[in-house]
Amino acid sequence: MDIKSKLSNNLSKLPKYLFAEIEEIRNKLIAQGVDVIDLSIGDPDLPTPSPIIEALYEAAKDPANHKYPSYYGMIQFRKAAAEWYFRRFSVEFDPSKEVIALIGSKEGIAHIHWAFLNPGDYAIVPDPGYPVYNGATILAGGIPYKVPLKEENNFFPDFDSIPEEIAKKAKIMFVNYPNNPTSATATYEQLEKAVWFAKKYEIILCSDLAYSEIYQGNEKPISIFNIPSAKEIAIEFHSLSKTFNMTGWRIGFAIGNEDIVKGLGSIKSNVDSGVFNAIQIAGIRALQPDMEKYVEETRKTIENRKKNLTKALEEIGFKVYSSNATFYIWVKNPEGFSSKEISTLLLNKTGIVVTPGNGFGEYGEGYFRISVTASDERIKEAVERIKNTKIL
Ligand SMILES: *Cc1c(COP(=O)(O)O)cnc(C)c1O
Repeated sequence: MDIKSKLSNNLSKLPKYLFAEIEEIRNKLIAQGVDVIDLSIGDPDLPTPSPIIEALYEAAKDPANHKYPSYYGMIQFRKAAAEWYFRRFSVEFDPSKEVIALIGSKEGIAHIHWAFLNPGDYAIVPDPGYPVYNGATILAGGIPYKVPLKEENNFFPDFDSIPEEIAKKAKIMFVNYPNNPTSATATYEQLEKAVWFAKKYEIILCSDLAYSEIYQGNEKPISIFNIPSAKEIAIEFHSLSKTFNMTGWRIGFAIGNEDIVKGLGSIKSNVDSGVFNAIQIAGIRALQPDMEKYVEETRKTIENRKKNLTKALEEIGFKVYSSNATFYIWVKNPEGFSSKEISTLLLNKTGIVVTPGNGFGEYGEGYFRISVTASDERIKEAVERIKNTKIL
């Protein structure tokens, strides 16, 4: 039987994996003994702070935690999430109705489409963007409308450019600031526009705040709920992954409008059975005020790495988008190079793997993304290679 021909139409419609060729070169270089530095993945190299690991260890020993968790998550975890959120953003939420635990925020971002899209409905997704917004729209039978993020608008959508008939047919839309992959942040006024647009066209506004704690300098990113009345139409996705170096643990939460949270919860109760209680208990530990010192340390490390790498790139003539958040550096291609060409050239000449911008959507063409999630030593080595290699 030809299994491949049996794949669902929606699955077949998903964009092809764009990095295959670069991966091939990377593997070839490794096989030749080249010391490849991988700066392409958004996965922190730093360890999870030890108090969180200790909390998991204790919780894992208790048989009470070995049973099925509750669909919405432990009330203690949701309460800790709402308290953390209040300390950080000064907005109150009811943990019993307006907060839900997630198996990582990616899970919630994917499932929200199933809760609200009918076949043929539009979802407005940023391009370039985190691939799940687009992929999950297609899998749910919806149609992605890709709104370009352009440098002249500081990588924020121009809502006026969205045709009225699309806006009227859109059910959900995504904003993601601090942004992956561009590293852009959004101002209060910009987020206010997003809320205004969503309300005007009655669209569910999904804010992806995975990078809320990964900022450089003193200006903290704000939440969509810092805009008054956003609660009428919005849900926000939070992740413990980037904040506490917990990508492998799979825990996050969504917070927001009660009915939107309920819709997401209905899907989840039909699909998954929640987060291992011991991990939720470790999550509660992570969300306590005393963990802030670890996060501060992470921020300093990232700030340093970004600064050093940016300086090295600028010294040899690259144009780097200036940003004060995320652990990404968004770099413009040199004149005459496509994203794939410059990424391939960098890899061949320096052994450094970066991500071509078009891997995040067609409007990412013209840029490449560097992730500073390798050790200080490796970043230093990357800086040396960039300084000492004639790349162009
Ligand atoms: C990493 C990331 C996420 C997902 O994080 P989880 O590990 O699933 O919580 C969500 N959105 C963006 C933009 C990300 O980069």
